[in-house]
Amino acid sequence: MHVQKVFIAIGSNLGHRAANCARAIELIGRLKDTEVVGKSSLYETEPWGVTGQPGFINAAVEVRTSLEPEELLRALKSIEAGMGRKETGRWGPRTIDLDIIFYGDMVVEKEGLTIPHPRLQERAFVLVPLNEIAPDFMHPVLKKTVSELTARTDTDGVRRF
Ligand code: ADP
Ligand code: MG
Repeated sequence: MHVQKVFIAIGSNLGHRAANCARAIELIGRLKDTEVVGKSSLYETEPWGVTGQPGFINAAVEVRTSLEPEELLRALKSIEAGMGRKETGRWGPRTIDLDIIFYGDMVVEKEGLTIPHPRLQERAFVLVPLNEIAPDFMHPVLKKTVSELTARTDTDGVRRF
């Protein structure tokens, strides 16, 4: 059983957004063979992709887990489902969104699972919280640290909540 250092991005823009994020972190910590070892502050982010919906609350956590990437994705999707996420389409409002950002320095390219998350370098709402807890973590494909990636991103729309 190999324990990995994993980063998960959390977002909510429906209901009690901060409580949803806190609840998701609690449920992640209860997963089998998984421990939350770091968490960022909460940030509020202008809605992205689709306008006319409330802003997101975003956060990032660091976990130690021995779940395999696909087991972890399945577990995160079941937390999303249990918290009442409805299929509102991509970019649509959601109670909770849980994305695997990094899984150690593993690179995964499968149907339904890409790690590192393919759009993280474009997303200030992922990078800003991540940069608070893991500025020196190296993107295993881009070979840039989180702090270097954050510095290249327009972070104006992401504020401490
Ligand atoms: P997004 O998070 O991009 O807004 P969704 O949450 O609706 O979109 O996710 C769509 C699908 O993305 C999920 O069903 C999942 O299978 C897939 N996916 C691919 N890579 C990842 C990843 N690294 N973390 C989470 N989901 C992922
Ligand atoms: Mg997602």
